[in-house]
Amino acid sequence: MQAENTPEAQVDAPPARFSTLPLDAKLLRAVADAGYETMTPIQAKAIPVVLSGRDVMGAAQTGTGKTAAFSIPLLQKMMRHESASVSPARHPVRALVLAPTRELADQVANNVKTYARHTQLRSTVVFGGIDMKPQTLELKKGVEVLIATPGRLLDHIEAKNCNLSQVEYVVLDEADRMLDIGFLPDLQRILSYLPKTRQTLLFSATFSPEIKKLAQSYLQDPLLVEVARPNATASTVEQRFYRVEEDDKRAAVRQILRERGITQSIVFVNSKLGAARLARAFERDGLRTSALHGDKSQDERLKALAAFKAGEVDLLVATDVAARGLDIADLPAVFNYDIPFHAEDYVHRIGRTGRAGASGLAFTFVDRDDGRLTGEIEKLLKKKLEVEPYELRDERPRRSLPPRARETDFSDERPAAPRRSSASPPPPRRAPASDPFFDRPYEPPAEDQATAAWDRAPAPAAAGNSLSRFIKPRRRIAALLGGPKG
Ligand code: AMP
Repeated sequence: MQAENTPEAQVDAPPARFSTLPLDAKLLRAVADAGYETMTPIQAKAIPVVLSGRDVMGAAQTGTGKTAAFSIPLLQKMMRHESASVSPARHPVRALVLAPTRELADQVANNVKTYARHTQLRSTVVFGGIDMKPQTLELKKGVEVLIATPGRLLDHIEAKNCNLSQVEYVVLDEADRMLDIGFLPDLQRILSYLPKTRQTLLFSATFSPEIKKLAQSYLQDPLLVEVARPNATASTVEQRFYRVEEDDKRAAVRQILRERGITQSIVFVNSKLGAARLARAFERDGLRTSALHGDKSQDERLKALAAFKAGEVDLLVATDVAARGLDIADLPAVFNYDIPFHAEDYVHRIGRTGRAGASGLAFTFVDRDDGRLTGEIEKLLKKKLEVEPYELRDERPRRSLPPRARETDFSDERPAAPRRSSASPPPPRRAPASDPFFDRPYEPPAEDQATAAWDRAPAPAAAGNSLSRFIKPRRRIAALLGGPKG
């Protein structure tokens, strides 16, 4: 399998516009109607490859714009079949999209309808749990694009409701989830009914050995198209893992807040004592901070939360138990100042941001002793975490934090039940000055720069776009931190 390389020259280029693509005017009009001007990274990479006719293995998941990345070029390729004829025989299925769930299938179908709206190409969706009859009627009318969940599609194939003999394009969307659900035998059967000569696109958030095997069996010389967007948990949360020394963590939080223009954030720590100390330290830094932990009364917690919601507090330093269940709309970012002892807590913590379709950022600080804990998160997320060195540019003198909280006090917030990882971790080792991990200045990989450029692009006018990530720096926090004046 070949990986697609992004030439250096393209890295700093502004995000590519849809209008630069060799697309039919009807498709470009639909894209403009949807309010999209520039392509997301996965679109910029995948669309030309799909147009070229190559099989694709796409490493992307919901939230990256992957649906448009495959539907738009496939519609373009099918434009030659566009015909005003109403005869069903003239509308055999040309493109088949298989998706794991009815929700995803429905979502893909809505996208396809949006992009095909000015063309004569027809599409429909079939999934289980509802009456087959209306679906059968639609299928019998003839459609060029069929979106389906595997089980229900097999029902329709058995009932001879659809003709798949002319399928030219197949998309396996969220292939990893299809395998997790146990759709492999269904997929194998469906694929065995399709013409051998076809273009196949496989999208997956992870590339497990099973996915690779599937690709080897059904894709021909695929091109790997991926974007560095480590967001395997909540699709709208950008997760970054930074290697930061204990003494530098507070400065790193300040620098990230400043550089990203983040207005409010929850900073998670593992202990009550750590929360109280860190909150005081941030207060000394001039940030309006409250601590939220188990030693605070319910009344104090509610007050802290109300102040945070009202925007009177910039940072909430919280422990897991105290923060559980908080619903704070549009929280732009969370920090895992201490990597959680339990991988499930990682998922809960980052679930505080990127809620209800809003985008969010999750920064996790990893030090040299956290290997086992990152390993547990990797196991849970079923993906390798990329821990990047973090370069501190803060010129101010660093003030050391009090001794690391978890060395002295780390178990007070956990339920009484014994947990496997409550054994004392060894004291943190400082990295030697010559350690390449710590000395190497942080340079985001090329793909991240492309993603960042896309993130910075102005929001399209269309409502409901979950991709735009604009965090308006509030005057006060930005001024305090010496960053951009909001
Ligand atoms: P997806 O990853 O396909 O589920 O898409 C996630 C969201 O991004 C959907 O709400 C799309 O409508 C939106 N979207 C797709 N492409 C773009 C684009 N080029 N610019 C802005 N938003 C987009």
